[in-house]
Amino acid sequence: MPESRIAPRIAGNVAFIVAAGLVGLAIGYFVDDSLGWAVFAVGLLLLLAHHLLQLYALGIWLERGDVVGEPRARGVWDELHALLHRSRREAATREAELARALTRWREAARALPDGVVILDGDRIEWCNDTAKLHLDIDPVGDAGNTITHLVRIPEFVQYLEGGDYAKPIELRSGDGRVLSVQIVPYGDAQRLVLSRDITRFEKLERMRREFVANVSHEMRTPLTVISGFLETLREDNEGDAEDRRRYLELMSEQARRMERLVADLLTLSTLESSPPPPLEEAIDMGALVERMGADARALSNGRHKIEVENASGIELLGSEKEITSALGNLVSNAIRYTPVGGTVRLRWHVAPEGAAFDVEDTGIGISPEHLPRLTERFYRVDRGRSRETGGTGLGLAIVKHALVRHGATLDVQSTPGQGSRFTARFAGPRVRI
Ligand code: ADP
Repeated sequence: MPESRIAPRIAGNVAFIVAAGLVGLAIGYFVDDSLGWAVFAVGLLLLLAHHLLQLYALGIWLERGDVVGEPRARGVWDELHALLHRSRREAATREAELARALTRWREAARALPDGVVILDGDRIEWCNDTAKLHLDIDPVGDAGNTITHLVRIPEFVQYLEGGDYAKPIELRSGDGRVLSVQIVPYGDAQRLVLSRDITRFEKLERMRREFVANVSHEMRTPLTVISGFLETLREDNEGDAEDRRRYLELMSEQARRMERLVADLLTLSTLESSPPPPLEEAIDMGALVERMGADARALSNGRHKIEVENASGIELLGSEKEITSALGNLVSNAIRYTPVGGTVRLRWHVAPEGAAFDVEDTGIGISPEHLPRLTERFYRVDRGRSRETGGTGLGLAIVKHALVRHGATLDVQSTPGQGSRFTARFAGPRVRI
């Protein structure tokens, strides 16, 4: 046990009283009784006055709540003051540490990408800035308010009041945002409301579902045709040889369609899963553009006028296979959507941003409302025409993907009935002029 510093001071006081008593006793014995008592009383009064004065000083110091200045006192009071002063300083330090920890915690919670609201019962105690954004709650102005008066979405109110918080719920806001909201109870009546923006995730999930549905649909049509003809052939053994030849022709046409679809799906999946195209490999664009011209002539088979303008000296760095696939799709579209007698013009040239490849046709054109959606998978302006010309609905999705991987953009200008111009614009470190 540490040595007490108060005890000797108390003992000093007791010694003073004993000394005063002894002096009074001696005076009473040798001089006069009354004088002895008087001396003893004066001694006690002096002691009392001293203690009252010290008590007064302590009271004033305590009232001031001053933790910095140390009070001046004597004897036992000096020790008491020192003890009180120390415990006050320790309490102040602890309080400051707690305040700092609370501030740090709040700053961390404020920086969270998810929304956090602390509820006491139904009342908002605190919320971070993300919760403000998600649930439109003001961290300062709305503190103390009932949350259901501010977040009035019926699903949320039902979830909060239902008390079953095992799973989060999804809320859709008016501006198209989708939130996942989870309530976590804690303490006596406290609850945490956590909100997360899952708009992107939800969109990806919807796209995935639509994609699977689209692929199934695209596959089912040729399969239905093939199995129908197979059935006919099986039942009609004696049939006309010409009919049988036609059925087989139609079946192989549908099989080719499925092949094209699978090939395009594989191209897309390779584009999605491959590492970025190399920055060290220069594509021989002169030869590639010439090849595009030759492919266009072969596809057109003399039905269109094909023009090629090929600037020399522009190098493109990246994957030759991907660029061939992207530009090849633009060329094949131009041929497929341009009636006989039309013109298709290919141009590889210097552009303000770097270099560009244009495919211009005098074909059927596209109405402006379709332009923003052209590169979506399976989006077609005219389903019948796309199918007739052997389209899979994936060509421009492949183009966009391959171009994005090369830091390039696709620009489309079109006038219905007059023609279209698709421009792949290359810029940045992938172009060398
Ligand atoms: P598809 O296999 O159907 O051609 P794409 O993804 O290549 O699919 O093109 C999407 C749609 O954009 C086409 O169905 C067509 O309606 C339209 N399109 C593409 N290129 C042209 C073009 N040069 N002229 C007119 N329409 C075009």
